[in-house]
Amino acid sequence: MSSLPASAPFSVDSLISQRALAIDASGIRRVFDLGAKLANPINLSIGQPDFPVPEAMKDAAIAAIRADRNGYTVTQGVPELQHAIWNHLNSTLGWSGPHDDLGLLVTSGTSGALLLAFLALLNPGDEAIAADPFFVMYPQLGPITGGRVVLCDTYPDFRLTAERIEAKITPRTKLVLLNSPSNPCGVVLSSDEIRDIVELCRRRGILLISDEIYDEFVYSDAREEGRFPTPARMTDQLLLIRGFGKSYGCTGWRLGYVTGPRRLIQEMAKLQQYTFVCAPSMAQLGVAKAFDVDLGPFVRNYETRRDLVLDAFNGVANVARPGGAFYAFVEVPSRLGLSASDFVEQAIANSVLVIPGKVFSRRDTHFRLSYAAPEPTLRKGLEILRGLMG
Ligand code: PMP
Repeated sequence: MSSLPASAPFSVDSLISQRALAIDASGIRRVFDLGAKLANPINLSIGQPDFPVPEAMKDAAIAAIRADRNGYTVTQGVPELQHAIWNHLNSTLGWSGPHDDLGLLVTSGTSGALLLAFLALLNPGDEAIAADPFFVMYPQLGPITGGRVVLCDTYPDFRLTAERIEAKITPRTKLVLLNSPSNPCGVVLSSDEIRDIVELCRRRGILLISDEIYDEFVYSDAREEGRFPTPARMTDQLLLIRGFGKSYGCTGWRLGYVTGPRRLIQEMAKLQQYTFVCAPSMAQLGVAKAFDVDLGPFVRNYETRRDLVLDAFNGVANVARPGGAFYAFVEVPSRLGLSASDFVEQAIANSVLVIPGKVFSRRDTHFRLSYAAPEPTLRKGLEILRGLMG
């Protein structure tokens, strides 16, 4: 190999963008790294269901591979999946799409839809409002896209109300990001609370984005007339983002979708064309079968686990009642005189993996417990956590 001529010393460090430097590696990874050192961890940190992908979906994905449907798909998603999603939205939300004003884009996970939405909407300095505590990606969407994510403190009840949002609106606010059921709290807003937010956004000319990745995991006490409260039942002038990963245990398939005003969906599709190109082909055909799956038994099972968690901390620590998802956000009792991070270190020293609240928040007072774990594991973990609370 001929050697290159001598040149100035090369330093990759000096080449890294401010955008990349502004982002801190996910604190969740750090907990996973610590956990990897434990022989038999009681893992209550996982953010995905503990059941396997339903067989009909596996079969459809495998059949798609065998039928040589492994190439690029159209950016908006294969017709089979587009059709299945519209049927689902029309029958569950009373929508009447597709029509001239409403568009649908199949994306590489819910994350893909969120990123494209921010890229399509925010100019440098434009603002998005989101709750604190938040899903870890939300604040990073600021530095990634050049916009700014303004956090709205929702302690101690973790309800993102219209009143709390209104206090954060400035002339630069373009969107409000709602996540109900929420990660990391599992809190589900009521229809009345949601209606106030929809009206506020309409009045102030702000777009509402509803991240409903946990829409299938809503428990009986958070439902209204048996249904999950969503702004999508009040208006179609919002961006509705949903995913398949959490509902059907296929987070690795990277499948989500976004629907809303066609003009905006077109811009997002254009951006997808030059970035992700399309969502994974065989996974699109796999999830096209998802809406036929009855998740009822899984959801009831998770509701029982949610109740176990609430019972375990009753009278010991404050937990805002989770109405959905599979998380509880537990306050470390002040009598212990510990930050949540200190408490989580103690938990990990006792083989229980949970995630310190500061990963999801500016505060370090709570921890996130995921009850997407087998019941014996969950019971054991709860017993140890209670024990540590004295
Ligand atoms: N939104 C929320 C609220 C989440 O919790 C997650 C995943 N933890 C995502 C979006 C991203 O999901 P996906 O795997 O579909 O990109």
